[in-house]
Amino acid sequence: MNSSDVLIIGAGPAGTVAGALLARAGRSVTVLERAKFPRFSIGESLLPQSMVFLEQAHMLQAVVEAGYQYKNGAVFIRRGEQSTFDFRDKFSSGWGTTYQVVRADFDDLLAREAARMGARLLFEHEILSFQWDTQATLQVRTPDGATTPFHARFVLDASGFGRVLPRLLDLERPSGFPLRRSIFTHVADRIDAPEHDRDKIVIAVHPRHHDVWYWLIPFKNGRSSVGVVARDEFFGARGADAAVVLKQLLQEESALCHLLRHAGFDTPVREIRGYAADVKRLWGPGFALLGNAGEFLDPVFSSGVTIAMKSAVLATNVLLRRFAGETVDWEADYERPLRKGVDTFRAFVEAWYDGRFQDIVFATNQQPRIRQLIASVLAGYAWDTDNPYVESPARRIAALAKSCRVQQPR
Ligand code: FAD
Repeated sequence: MNSSDVLIIGAGPAGTVAGALLARAGRSVTVLERAKFPRFSIGESLLPQSMVFLEQAHMLQAVVEAGYQYKNGAVFIRRGEQSTFDFRDKFSSGWGTTYQVVRADFDDLLAREAARMGARLLFEHEILSFQWDTQATLQVRTPDGATTPFHARFVLDASGFGRVLPRLLDLERPSGFPLRRSIFTHVADRIDAPEHDRDKIVIAVHPRHHDVWYWLIPFKNGRSSVGVVARDEFFGARGADAAVVLKQLLQEESALCHLLRHAGFDTPVREIRGYAADVKRLWGPGFALLGNAGEFLDPVFSSGVTIAMKSAVLATNVLLRRFAGETVDWEADYERPLRKGVDTFRAFVEAWYDGRFQDIVFATNQQPRIRQLIASVLAGYAWDTDNPYVESPARRIAALAKSCRVQQPR
């Protein structure tokens, strides 16, 4: 009973997409999830690229029917300047629209979809240990508090910030990004500004600190997610009450302050810090790491769920080939292809925080073609190597930022 072809740790987007793909391919798959669903999770603004992965996992129809808030782009705001990217006007082919979702509902929906496809999902089951011999044996705490062994031919760790196998197998490696923190909440937004487009995420830069930024992610039913991201020490100097700090910082950015002037702050404020993480490798004997259990960069371009789903698609392909008797190369077939897209986002994130990408975004005389190439990456098509900003992201961004600075000295 507690034995399956594949055991998946965690029922976030990486775990449920992988579960659905494996179950549809006829494999026995058990997803063990520590929490009881629905449960809160952060990561609410999807990218159009993720629609492709939902489609591959046969989950798209359910997502479309759920009627989430439509999303077709991003608006960047800095000291009164505004720059809008419409994801439908992009270089790569494929979906140009997606959704903004309350993750408690969305993750619950994907979990039910994975179960419908034949995956066995067990909630309130927490992985405590992992051992590999000719098969994997995991000790699992069950809802009654007992510890029970589960066995599998292969384990996919999709435990997100839980980072189960990286911790148990000493795979952790420090992220190249500094320690940052985010403070956020959900509000009854009561936005009555006719110019505000609910179909786009708003990313606003603090007027005096270019590496401090805010998000406004509208949902259905007049609610929004709002948050701020800064270096840990920046918050340290602002006091201990996260709700007060969030409101104070929102007052300092005039566009958001205006949009949210009637907002009802009716939900507890949460914070998360030190989320950037990396691992020495994404696979090993009997396991592979998916989504946030591998590398997580930064929230600024909403890439997390897309990367999580991409990892699920890539890893399940390799695994199914292996089960079919093929020799597989996890490094060449999984780690390198996945990291390619992560590296694209890395170059964009680095350039965001050092200010170069902001110069690019707010450049007034940008060629439409360049904006389409950038829009493609912002829409999540970070693996499309026909796009020069994917092929050599760091070099291209450096060159473009330089030309923007020459045209518009800061
Ligand atoms: P998760 O969604 O974290 O799921 C992991 C699951 O594993 C959880 O349900 C957890 O309960 C379970 N688990 C953990 N430990 C155990 C255990 N021991 N046993 C069993 N189960 C376990 N991404 C976006 O795409 N868009 C955004 O707008 C966005 N905004 C973000 C804002 C912030 C401030 C941060 C920090 C991140 C943001 N992200 C965003 C990233 C996003 O949250 C993650 O990348 C995404 O949720 C990763 O999915 P996952 O399936 O890998 O892990």
